[in-house]
Amino acid sequence: MKKIYVDTCSRPYHIYITQKDWNPFIEYLGECVRSKKLLVVCDENVYRLYYPIMDNMLSKYGYKHSVAVVPPGEDTKSLKHANSLYTAALDAHLDRDSTIIALGGGVVGDLAGFIAATYMRGIGFIQIPTTLLAQIDSSIGGKVAVNHPNAKNIIGAFYQPSMVYINIDTLTTLPRQEFTGGLAELIKYGYIWDGDFLEWLEDNIDGILAYDVDTLSYAIYKACTIKSHIVEMDEDEQGIRAILNFGHTVGHAIEAATGYKVYTHGEGVALGMVYETKIAYNLGLIDYNYVRKLIHLLERCSLPTKLHGIDSSILIDKMVLDKKNRGDNIVFILPTGTGKVDSFSDIDINMLNSVLQD
Ligand code: ADP
Ligand code: ZN
Repeated sequence: MKKIYVDTCSRPYHIYITQKDWNPFIEYLGECVRSKKLLVVCDENVYRLYYPIMDNMLSKYGYKHSVAVVPPGEDTKSLKHANSLYTAALDAHLDRDSTIIALGGGVVGDLAGFIAATYMRGIGFIQIPTTLLAQIDSSIGGKVAVNHPNAKNIIGAFYQPSMVYINIDTLTTLPRQEFTGGLAELIKYGYIWDGDFLEWLEDNIDGILAYDVDTLSYAIYKACTIKSHIVEMDEDEQGIRAILNFGHTVGHAIEAATGYKVYTHGEGVALGMVYETKIAYNLGLIDYNYVRKLIHLLERCSLPTKLHGIDSSILIDKMVLDKKNRGDNIVFILPTGTGKVDSFSDIDINMLNSVLQD
């Protein structure tokens, strides 16, 4: 078992990385709840797979818990589903000392966290992420949100959980495409922060792809350590936290331009990292071997590295609309050397166009 302390100003908490045994969860739960009243939120798939274990365990230890089950998929991150969860919270008589447990992937974590942040102006919140993406990214750092029909993640808050409990065994039931999508974000950490970790990933990616427990848990530990470190420095994204958006300026545009139906988020980020690394090469920030290294690593993970059939002008239009922009310029996080990135907002549109057509 590994443990990481996340020292955010608003609420410090621990991330636990375990496998097999759920028992430590009950021990830590006792330390971070104010009362025994809980609402577990999960989607239908996770309910079937993991709620029975959770239900048994909570009953055995005298928790007064109820469960709210939502449909799987991004469409669930809506005000409509938020409203049904407020109703579930009221029906379960949750009060200010109660806790919401998000059991599931990023969709459930973002939605349940949004409810926890707003119901009675904020109640207890615990994350049990069950996808690789949620374990290494969305469950850490307190970003919670629902989507508006015209913009993703636009209605939200920064609301830190009081614990993140990762059981890596949950990844064995995850559909393969969801797993490899998470690998894109894993590789991102090497590119933005840690050249040694990048090298380690190149040497160990086969072990990760084979679900080797020790390799996988080290990778998750490293990713969570890097993310929490960045979040500690800049909890509400006024500065350095923006480097986590490497691959996301182009990635989000690709997802939006294809109606969120063609690529998973991780696949969009994989493509985004490739094109943003190519932009960095065109600016003379890195040499081409660094682009090749990324493409090779992504290919080993069966992630896409080349766009087909999307007009670059549509992508640029989408980038202009990105909520991360300040003023009129598109903001890019670009590699500037091994394991290093920086923010750029004055990229020439003609160059951008030609890179995206490459
Ligand atoms: P993400 O974390 O990528 O945002 P979602 O919350 O959309 O992912 O979950 C992706 C899909 O994987 C959903 O259909 C969800 O029900 C399913 N899922 C989540 N965790 C698991 C798991 N451990 N095993 C199997 N399916 C899972
Ligand atoms: Zn992402």
